[in-house]
Amino acid sequence: MKKLVYVVNKNEKPLMPCKASKAKKLLKNEKAEVFEYEPFTIKLKFGASGYKNKVVLGIDTGSSNIGIAAVCGNRVLFQAEAKTKTSLIVDRMTKRASYRRTRRNRKTRYRKPRFDNRKRKDGWLPPSIQENVEMHIKMIKMVNKILPVTKIIIETAQFDTHALKEGKYKLNNFEYQKGPLYKEENLKMYIRKRDKYLCQMPKCKEEKGVLECHHIIPRRKGGTNKPENLILLCEKCHKKITGKEEQFIDIFYSITKGKRINTKDFARTQAGKTKIVELAKTIAPVEQTIGAITKVDRKKIGLPKTHYNDAVAIASQGRKIKTLNYYYKFVNKGRGQYQLRKGIRSQMIAQSPEREIEGFKRWDKVKVIDTGEIGFINRKRTSGQFGISDIEGKTIYGSKTFRKLKKISSGKSILCEMKKIPKGGLK
Ligand SMILES: [Zn+2]
Repeated sequence: MKKLVYVVNKNEKPLMPCKASKAKKLLKNEKAEVFEYEPFTIKLKFGASGYKNKVVLGIDTGSSNIGIAAVCGNRVLFQAEAKTKTSLIVDRMTKRASYRRTRRNRKTRYRKPRFDNRKRKDGWLPPSIQENVEMHIKMIKMVNKILPVTKIIIETAQFDTHALKEGKYKLNNFEYQKGPLYKEENLKMYIRKRDKYLCQMPKCKEEKGVLECHHIIPRRKGGTNKPENLILLCEKCHKKITGKEEQFIDIFYSITKGKRINTKDFARTQAGKTKIVELAKTIAPVEQTIGAITKVDRKKIGLPKTHYNDAVAIASQGRKIKTLNYYYKFVNKGRGQYQLRKGIRSQMIAQSPEREIEGFKRWDKVKVIDTGEIGFINRKRTSGQFGISDIEGKTIYGSKTFRKLKKISSGKSILCEMKKIPKGGLK
């Protein structure tokens, strides 16, 4: 596995990465020192400038998973996937609301709800979205720290609705001169979303397997590419009606007529994406793209569907590219445990557990000495027994003594691990 090592100069400004063998030499000759362990970055001790190139950063935005890739020419320099803690935040907010409700009920008599008496600051976003925005920016900043990013391309929507409304396929802000494939994908993505990823044949509602976009009035009979003339069908139903299209025209039209995507669902996530773009602009120039373009580009390059591959497609804009055979995985765990009371009678946790036990704390990355397995501490006990899990949160050991553990890196709220990609790709 040819790993790239990231390089910063003595003023901590990023340069182009180098091969691991070169980094080893520099470290050995004491011309450089370790700057960061994950992703592995060295800091040169001498010389302030170095050779730099145009590095484009691609971001595949998402509510729970973010794809990140940095590309230079026809080479991928960095690819990663980051898991947000959105679901954790949602959990905590529901919990907080229920705690507050019971506390109110316990301490006061009935009073009218007063939900309208609080002012929100300008630019306020719901906590889950706010967290999502922060995670995107953290990831952009992290890459910007180790690579000289000159441009950021962010996928801010799945498809371009304006283009569809006009009935033309003018992808207003995007690169629509690329050809009919992009226009088609834009339309398909819209139809899939509009029909909620379900077969629209009455009494079918199949969601597994292949879903296809069917022209209600066939193209050869003058049917248009307007959303109204398109409906989502499963493979089986699509086959069933071939040759009998005319019988189904009225049934299908009654379903699609006036049907639109519920834009309310988007409004909030869209607000988050606008914020991401706004903040990213303070780091480097930003361009926006849409999912339909990404999908066509990724297929063109011939990459399987993963978050980091989507990001590679975004950054390279469909150019053939040499990918890496590993990627970084980041998981935002959030470190805090805010629970103050526990137990059936809500006792205060009088002695809150020590932050550090036997030199280990939560989310430390450790190696199990006898087996060589690498994991993270997710549980600690005063006895010096630790629970170890992998980066996805799956338990490796329920209990392992500190004597059998070796610390690799100190716990952070964002966990990081390098993952190999097996030959032939994932899946
Ligand atoms: Zn069906």
